[in-house]
Amino acid sequence: MLPEKTQVLIVGGGPCGLMLAIELGRRGIDALVLDQKPGTAFNPQANATQARTMEHYRRLGFADEVRALGMPEDFPTDIAYFTRFAEHELARFKLPSSREAKKLITTLSGSWSAAELPHRVAQKFVEQVLRRHAERVARIFYGHRVVTFTEKQDHIETLVDGCPHPICSDYIVGADGARSLVRQAKGWRYGGETGVVRDFVGGRMYAVYCRIARFYRDVPHAPAWMNVSFNRERRCFMPAVDGKSEFAFHTQLKAHEDEARIDEHEAERMVQQAIGRPLEVEVLARDTWTAGHALVAERFGEGRVFIGGDAAHLFTPTGGLGYNTAVEDAVNLGWKLASVLKGRASPRLLASYEFERKKLAVRNTTYAKRFADSLGNFQPLPEIEDETPAGVAARRAAGEYLAAHGRSEFNIPGITFGGRYDGSPAIASDGTAPPSESVNTYVPTACPGGRPPHAWLPDGRSLYDLFGFEWTLLCLEDSNLTPSTDLHLVRVRNDELRDLYGAGFALIRPDQIVAWRGNDAQAGLRALEYLRG
Ligand SMILES: Cc1cc2nc3c(=O)[nH]c(=O)nc-3n(C[C@H](O)[C@H](O)[C@H](O)COP(=O)(O)OP(=O)(O)OC[C@H]3O[C@@H](n4cnc5c(N)ncnc54)[C@H](O)[C@@H]3O)c2cc1C
Repeated sequence: MLPEKTQVLIVGGGPCGLMLAIELGRRGIDALVLDQKPGTAFNPQANATQARTMEHYRRLGFADEVRALGMPEDFPTDIAYFTRFAEHELARFKLPSSREAKKLITTLSGSWSAAELPHRVAQKFVEQVLRRHAERVARIFYGHRVVTFTEKQDHIETLVDGCPHPICSDYIVGADGARSLVRQAKGWRYGGETGVVRDFVGGRMYAVYCRIARFYRDVPHAPAWMNVSFNRERRCFMPAVDGKSEFAFHTQLKAHEDEARIDEHEAERMVQQAIGRPLEVEVLARDTWTAGHALVAERFGEGRVFIGGDAAHLFTPTGGLGYNTAVEDAVNLGWKLASVLKGRASPRLLASYEFERKKLAVRNTTYAKRFADSLGNFQPLPEIEDETPAGVAARRAAGEYLAAHGRSEFNIPGITFGGRYDGSPAIASDGTAPPSESVNTYVPTACPGGRPPHAWLPDGRSLYDLFGFEWTLLCLEDSNLTPSTDLHLVRVRNDELRDLYGAGFALIRPDQIVAWRGNDAQAGLRALEYLRG
């Protein structure tokens, strides 16, 4: 039996909805998640959890749980390009295994100055962890379809298929994916670009979740996390799912290929074409999807209604940004809704959600589109598979191009860490300008509006692990402030950190964003009151 009342009703139990439930539930807010599916995703879906998302999982205490998922801990997370998987290797971008990543991150600085490195893992596994943690603090119901909702004067009434009573809530959040009922009910249109046609990742895509038991025995190349085939017959990307035998194969259908006519046998054949050998392929699931979107909704919220994740933006998956952007939406909205519901902030704070996240959605969909253009508009020459000098030359040229592309698409600290909320009403600018942004380089800065510079402290702890769950005042100089329930004080006397932050004090928001910095601690407290509206 579904409850009659809740504070926040979340439509959709994908990554965005589950993460929002965790952020709200941990703050004592009553959140209810309803999802029409029987459970979390069966298909692998997204493949990459970016470093910033991993930092949020660390903040919530389950980054190690996520990093233990997916492939074995010593499995390389390389990105490798082949004509066909059992034929010529064209290029390889080497990346560490999850065991190596955990050690490596404590030694890195500059662009990769971070608490966590990315983790390559299928979304289906991450969703299981998110669900487990969400269920500890919120009410999660799968198998329930939201049909409609009505905005009343001081609450929302939602109708659910098969439920005899409406559910009343203070807020409703649509984390309900690309066909979002909540977005459509509000009449908020997607803007941007759709229907882009490319040789690859621009058109109708066919996904085959499959088991290839002999892949690692019969394919004569070092294992990789991401396998990309580059030939004129069958282009695909195929990430490893468990590092043993499971893969998520995605190809683009040619003009003459009709998805309705593709049966299991044909799906198997498409995978074999990419391998270049008739290895046995067991099909676990098949689906179609469209690549070529870079869409952002015109509104992300108004009054008591908000949307986040794919409901608010649709990506082409190059760059691996869709699910990560969805998680960051939830992180951003979670603390704001909780502050307002607890009476600790004015409802005006909620307007900053759209301001901040819409800007980031436009930024990230634009980057994803650029990667899709770079990969999808680069076409194999007719001789790419020939055993002739022309074939060798074609493969060398393709390898050089794909190596550069791979470095650009899969080494993106600038995108991951460089997202900023300049100009937001929830940021107090100090008049300085941040360093200019670039995809593959990130310059740490405490200029208000961005991620706080990270540091490993002399005792081996991450600076982020010292931050509180709500607001934190990082004190890099002496002060006589006392902590309160609303403000956690972190006192670190470290000249290097003082230089890195460029001020004696920095106010860090609950979503680990610098809200203010300066040399007068009292001004920091005033900024906190002001920013909460
Ligand atoms: C092939 C592929 C590869 C990808 N790779 C990456 C990647 O590497 N990195 C990355 O960041 N992203 C990637 N993505 C994108 C990623 O999968 C999505 O962006 C992500 O799932 C969005 O999460 P979400 O929670 O917003 O929505 P969803 O995961 O779509 O969840 C929405 C939920 O809402 C439920 N729902 C919908 N309507 C209703 C209703 N009326 N009532 C109740 N429930 C409802 C649905 O059942 C669903 O469970 C990839 C996508 C594809 C297709």
